[in-house]
Amino acid sequence: MLKPDELSGILKIANEENIHIQYVETNSSWYKDDKSAIRILGKLRKSGLHTMLVSISPFHNEHIPFYKTKGVIKACHKSGINVFPWIQEFYPEIDSFDDQKPHSLDEYEQKFGKDYLKKIPGRYWIQPGGRAAMMLKDIFPHKPLRNLPGIYSGCDELSDTSHFHLDLFGNYIPGLCSGLSIKTEDLGSSLNIDKYPIISMLYSEGVIALQEFAKKKFDFEPDEQYLNKCHLCLEIRRFLSVEVNYDSIELQPKQFYEFL
Ligand code: SF4
Repeated sequence: MLKPDELSGILKIANEENIHIQYVETNSSWYKDDKSAIRILGKLRKSGLHTMLVSISPFHNEHIPFYKTKGVIKACHKSGINVFPWIQEFYPEIDSFDDQKPHSLDEYEQKFGKDYLKKIPGRYWIQPGGRAAMMLKDIFPHKPLRNLPGIYSGCDELSDTSHFHLDLFGNYIPGLCSGLSIKTEDLGSSLNIDKYPIISMLYSEGVIALQEFAKKKFDFEPDEQYLNKCHLCLEIRRFLSVEVNYDSIELQPKQFYEFL
């Protein structure tokens, strides 16, 4: 949505190639005013966009004032584009704050109770990686490292292609494992182990192998307890990327680790 003309081109090509696009997803950060949003969405409608998933959550509201989300929803209605609100249930809570500015998760806890964040995974699907793992680790109990389920076997999740992401740098993110990347030109055939040692290690031997690698090569010292295997995996990768500046095409984009 930052480059609507290019998105328009993608929609047209998808249509020509008979690729059905269920929806385009937006966090609404691009919204400036009603007039420009209606102009942009009207053009996209003509290029074949029929449904827009609009993210609605406290995690988005931490960064995006709610007037932008509301503005996009309104502009979709005016442009003949269906809105898929994800998720509508949060709307009244977010709308109870001043919609002209973002609001921190602390503000949500102050207003709706100390267990507000703890209840969210029961209301909304959260992949426990990246920033979500950093949030969940402060809320849910940890387990001793040696008892963490799944660390001693390979991560099959990495080969799951049922839901995947490609970022704007040309990285394919395997298994929704944020911060791990495969270059798009390397998709479609077996990965070269020399080029992708970390992903190969995680896939065939599991997180324990990555931990041993980080310990042996860079003196990584794990904590005694972690939330789950993805939390441990993330901490090791953050250590490699940020603490020892391990240069790797797999740990991309680097800013992902710097801004955790
Ligand atoms: S442990 Fe790492 S590689 Fe395995 S599923 Fe979790 S984030 Fe992905």
